Amino acid sequence: MADYLRPTSLDEALQALARPWTVLAGGTDFYPARVGRAIDENVLDIGGIAVLRGITAGPDGWRLGATTTWSELLEADLPPLFDGLRHAAREVGGRQIQNAGTLAGNLCNASPAADGVPPLLALDATVELAGRAGTRHLPLASFITGNRRTVLAPGELLIAVHVPKAARHARSAFLKLGARRYLVISIAMAAATLEVENARITAVRIAVGACSEVARRLPALEAALVGATVESLAARVEASQLAPLSPIDDVRGSAGYRREVVVTLLRRLLAGFSS
Ligand SMILES: Cc1cc2nc3c(=O)[nH]c(=O)nc-3n(C[C@H](O)[C@H](O)[C@H](O)COP(=O)(O)OP(=O)(O)OC[C@H]3O[C@@H](n4cnc5c(N)ncnc54)[C@H](O)[C@@H]3O)c2cc1C
Repeated sequence: MADYLRPTSLDEALQALARPWTVLAGGTDFYPARVGRAIDENVLDIGGIAVLRGITAGPDGWRLGATTTWSELLEADLPPLFDGLRHAAREVGGRQIQNAGTLAGNLCNASPAADGVPPLLALDATVELAGRAGTRHLPLASFITGNRRTVLAPGELLIAVHVPKAARHARSAFLKLGARRYLVISIAMAAATLEVENARITAVRIAVGACSEVARRLPALEAALVGATVESLAARVEASQLAPLSPIDDVRGSAGYRREVVVTLLRRLLAGFSS
């Protein structure tokens, strides 16, 4: 390792980022990517910056600090709107990974199989980025641009994820398919957020991950569900609504298998809202 720095303030971290550093949060993606070779880069450990930690609620929604861990998310007092994200949190690795791994690390690593992305897309989340020139907010959908690619500029940190309040009663859910039940990288995963009024769906957001370079919302399916009853949602899923997905063949599954299985996954996810 060249230099190691663990600042305690955001300002100190941003000043340090005037020269190149690799950011380290929980390290659960960072270290596995460096097995068998010396760490020869400058490492900026953001784990000591208090303002990046924790979840706060405001009048418009919630702020999830960048270094909030999956375990902290599970322990937080959050409404049913967060059920999908919390379900994903329970399935990110095992307890040790959940204790160390952070939300922002999952987003910045930008793996197509990052379990945090579909539930956060379904929550209409935005990310807050900070650099020496100031902060900017952008939708999560425009933050991740490809496999391991984000719009983070040199010297910028992701400092928080923001989740807006829903207009009406809202619930969310998440389902992940892997080669076994736990401790597995997703073959496909899906998340949905529903807003319901008078027993009818008034708004819905659905996102699928691991079936394209970046997790994708499914606008045609979302449109087909508005106005439906919760009980009838699963029957409205059709393969033609999956056009935004472009699955690949890999060691975990073929593109054809993924296309087929996503239909079943979505039907199960939506059927779960009526049970
Ligand atoms: C055994 C094991 C099982 C796993 N299982 C799963 C799983 O089931 N699902 C899943 O989605 N993931 C899984 N992961 C991956 C990993 O645990 C998660 O992606 C985790 O959320 C990463 O967070 P971290 O804090 O450890 O990131 P780190 O490893 O610290 O960082 C990841 C990347 O993001 C950058 N970064 C981190 N924070 C910031 C920031 N605030 N601003 C700018 N850049 C930043 C780092 O420079 C690095 O490039 C697993 C990992 C392991 C080792």
